[in-house]
Amino acid sequence: SGAPSGAAAAGRGLDQISPEGAAGVRFRGVTKAFGANVVLRDLDLDVAPAERVVVIGPSGSGKTTILRTTMTLERPDSGTIEIGGRHLYHEESDGRLRPAREKHIREVRSDVGMVFQHFNLFPHLTALENVMLAPMKVHGKSREEARDRGMYLLDTVGLAHAANQTPGQLSGGQKQRVAIARSCACEPKVMLFDEVTSALDPELVGEVLSVLRDIAALGTTTMLLVTHEMGFASEIADRVLMFDDGQVIEQGPPDQVLGDPRHERTKAFLGAVR
Ligand code: ADP
Repeated sequence: SGAPSGAAAAGRGLDQISPEGAAGVRFRGVTKAFGANVVLRDLDLDVAPAERVVVIGPSGSGKTTILRTTMTLERPDSGTIEIGGRHLYHEESDGRLRPAREKHIREVRSDVGMVFQHFNLFPHLTALENVMLAPMKVHGKSREEARDRGMYLLDTVGLAHAANQTPGQLSGGQKQRVAIARSCACEPKVMLFDEVTSALDPELVGEVLSVLRDIAALGTTTMLLVTHEMGFASEIADRVLMFDDGQVIEQGPPDQVLGDPRHERTKAFLGAVR
């Protein structure tokens, strides 16, 4: 972290992720199956603007699918999803979902940023070019504007010095920090983090968690995180959701869900990961 560097941040109000404010997320009755495998089961989920929610649960329980449906990478079979009060789909009288118009979906989706387990950086572009790309191509920002924000964000994740390096020259932790900066570049009102430390060597986990703490401290974006880092979860989360068998089986403040779980399956899960 550290203070934003000189020209990049000077007087531009860049010390935030989304200048327009965070957005909430609402699922109502969302069901999603892959063949006979029902992964989300009539799921209701509310995340308030700027809230930090950590989702925990067994592997294969559908946590990633929650994030991917929020990002419109998967379409639910039924139910509705709203981001910042705007619907991604509408339900017809026959109960089937129709997507909203493609232009509307693109607009709603542009409020959401996602960081994946495996960084997915463009290998032939530098760190800075990776961060500048979407603001220019998708959001029509000028090169100068994209560069300013890109440098500010690389500085925020402690990588201003690596701006001109390509992913092949960076460590796993550095790559993931670039990926986080990249996902912040489009001023997301909601950020989704899918086990962003689980592909890293243990000694590189801390530097990535520290960047997530900095983003959380800004408090200007909603954060929905899937993680197995329970210490980190209890420190950062406003609320922890225990997810199993397609449903939220227990939720509450981290002290309660992680420290004093009520549900037998939560106890068993926490016993296994600790
Ligand atoms: P988690 O993130 O909790 O590990 P996932 O959401 O990744 O769980 O997956 C939930 C279940 O859905 C798993 O059984 C997985 O195999 C299945 N699944 C996920 N994506 C697909 C897909 N595109 N096609 C078929 N099955 C899938």
